[in-house]
Amino acid sequence: MKDFLIFDGIHKSFGQYKAVDNVTISINQGEVFSLLGPSGCGKTTLLRLCAGLESPDAGRIILNGTDISNLPPNRRKVNTVFQNYALFPHMSVRENIAFGLKVAGKSRSEIKKDVDAMLDLIQMSDHADKRPALISGGQKQRVAIARALVNKPQVLLLDEPLAALDLKLRQRMLIELDQIHDEVGITFLFVTHDQSEAMSLSDRMAVMNEGKIEQIGRPVEIYESPVSSFTAAFIGDTNFFDGQVIEILPENYSLLSIDGLPDALCFNDTTRTVGDMVHVSVRPEKIMMQRQSPPDDHKMNTIKGVVENLVYLGGSTKYWVRSGEWMISAQQQHHHFQLDEKPLTWDDEVWLSWHADDGFMLERYDLDDEKMLTMPEDGDLLAEDIGDSEEIDDDEAESGAGS
Ligand code: ATP
Repeated sequence: MKDFLIFDGIHKSFGQYKAVDNVTISINQGEVFSLLGPSGCGKTTLLRLCAGLESPDAGRIILNGTDISNLPPNRRKVNTVFQNYALFPHMSVRENIAFGLKVAGKSRSEIKKDVDAMLDLIQMSDHADKRPALISGGQKQRVAIARALVNKPQVLLLDEPLAALDLKLRQRMLIELDQIHDEVGITFLFVTHDQSEAMSLSDRMAVMNEGKIEQIGRPVEIYESPVSSFTAAFIGDTNFFDGQVIEILPENYSLLSIDGLPDALCFNDTTRTVGDMVHVSVRPEKIMMQRQSPPDDHKMNTIKGVVENLVYLGGSTKYWVRSGEWMISAQQQHHHFQLDEKPLTWDDEVWLSWHADDGFMLERYDLDDEKMLTMPEDGDLLAEDIGDSEEIDDDEAESGAGS
């Protein structure tokens, strides 16, 4: 069903501060929809408005055809999973999951049936009698999800549910969340500031910035065709070039002059004309690097430069290449055994090339958004991969250690 959950012109301010500024989103039944954006952009406020923990200053929230904007939280068919799990420490896993059903006055047999089904869904039947202190972070999160699902809400709200977990566990939980969603089929509204989480889980997502929606679309649409410099820089990484259209060419291409670089061919959405100032974004992984000048191809743009910095990332290496005043980032996938290769390194002269279709002109550009593109110090990017969790180890917990 389309338009199952609708935020219709929602405004919410705290004092003078507009936390949510005229937001309209329509979410389909059964969809996994993510709200993604930097800290403070208003995504949690939007989720809390949906849960009934805040009231909108203006606008309506419609769930399954009913205006729920003024209903108290317990009369909305939505449940929330929080980042910190919010489990009752003195109750067992089974009692935690059963809590909402008890409050709703369900019979003992109904409660047992529903809780057993949930324990099975989250593969925690063997741990049903443990208290939260004796299970791992991933298991706690699974219990929190089961507790929120057990009384069959129409929408599950997930507020950064994986933020407290280390990287490996987050990746595993993402797959589990996806499986749980496939099983139960209800609508998920997922809040995160982590683009990879949002991209891997969502059917569609909304990118938010300062209380407003920047773009709504499928992850691939948002990544491959961002409408603004904010989205281009926030989702993934990119290079921005500012130029001027100097010629309109057949097949929707245009030729741009860019200060200090050779003229560049770029796919044109046909709205630009000669003389227009434009901003072009080219993703680092779309840029090929090689020692020799690439063969002539009229749809390829080529630039000569020198490697100024690089970060080895295991599966790929990210390079920063200087060409005159420009610093261009290019990410190269490792297709071969690297120890036998002679990879490009500092001070190497290189040719960069990208296809005209891989540069896209942005609808909106803000110079400030370039600040999101940083050149990391060596090793910075590896810190997250190492991870650091004080939780009980997940494999240990699965095998029953600590009980
Ligand atoms: P984060 O990822 O850090 O949680 P967010 O995108 O979820 O960020 P919100 O929590 O929705 O952002 O907050 C949006 C803005 O509204 C922030 O500037 C925040 O400080 C402010 N804000 C949120 N709740 C309140 C409140 N109860 N009183 C005052 N200001 C608030």
